Amino acid sequence: MNYHNITKDDMLNGEGLRVVLWTAGCTHCCEGCQNPETWDVAGGIEFDEAAEKELFEDLNNDYVAGITFSGGDPLHPFNRETVLRLANKVKQQYPNKTVWLYTGYLWEEVIKSVDVKDIDVLVDGEFVKELNDNNLHWIGSSNQRIIDVQKSLQEQKVVLYESK
Ligand code: SF4
Repeated sequence: MNYHNITKDDMLNGEGLRVVLWTAGCTHCCEGCQNPETWDVAGGIEFDEAAEKELFEDLNNDYVAGITFSGGDPLHPFNRETVLRLANKVKQQYPNKTVWLYTGYLWEEVIKSVDVKDIDVLVDGEFVKELNDNNLHWIGSSNQRIIDVQKSLQEQKVVLYESK
């Protein structure tokens, strides 16, 4: 898996101060995408041991609420295995921290092929330029949903996340 960046103390991509992993690779090609440079799955740099160490060192800080996987698309087929492994490792080491994941796929597509057990919040759907609203919290366009994954799995329907 390749990635473009690791950002820290991020307040825009999930609840609380978060470390964000910006993965490389996206096939959605949304019109108006703010990060088209992340579309190439071979772009950026290889996610190696040093990058993983950097993520977990930041998560070790008490004030960090959790990790957010963004991109690109963390659920690009090329990224899934690594991202899900990382999500599982975060939950094993920091059960009280949260895992957020942004994807251009819809929830209904995701749950058919991805084990989301280690994800707390999944923000789904492509960016739709006509539905862009800069006043929206955590999403770029109003079609995107901020989904409480564990409640959705329990209730077998989409349950939207309620901010703590
Ligand atoms: S899913 Fe996200 S990264 Fe991919 S093209 Fe759409 S807005 Fe850009």
